[in-house]
Amino acid sequence: MDAKFSDNVKEIMGKRGLKEADIVDVINTAESSNRKLVKNGINLAKKRIGEVTMYALYNDDGEVQSTYSHRMVLGDPIKTTDEPDLTEWVCKECNETAEVGSADMTYLGVTRTGPAVICPKCNDVWIEEYLAVQTIAAAEGLFEQKKA
Ligand SMILES: [Zn+2]
Repeated sequence: MDAKFSDNVKEIMGKRGLKEADIVDVINTAESSNRKLVKNGINLAKKRIGEVTMYALYNDDGEVQSTYSHRMVLGDPIKTTDEPDLTEWVCKECNETAEVGSADMTYLGVTRTGPAVICPKCNDVWIEEYLAVQTIAAAEGLFEQKKA
């Protein structure tokens, strides 16, 4: 699949400090491994590259819709006994509907629990765009200030 980037997406990527070559890598890795989430014809891929976990939202034609990233390292999902709260995402590898849950997130030596999208079968943990660009970016900023 050839990833295609519109000017709009390129602008988002520029603001978020993400490079096209890395996003191409994220998408190609997801496509070759079949490890991605899908929802209404949109694919969500992720890959840890260096110190950053990068995500790409793209359609089946490879047109990238958005990209985002976070620095914190995702740990294991935290099991709850509650009824599963289903998302619209389906884990492509497992063909299971992903659930709203929480997971350990570690950054600069500190581990906290945060909200995440989790596949109940393979336990893969995903962060949605609105959380990554708002809540998590703010938390990472606070952690960095404390360390400075
Ligand atoms: Zn899965």
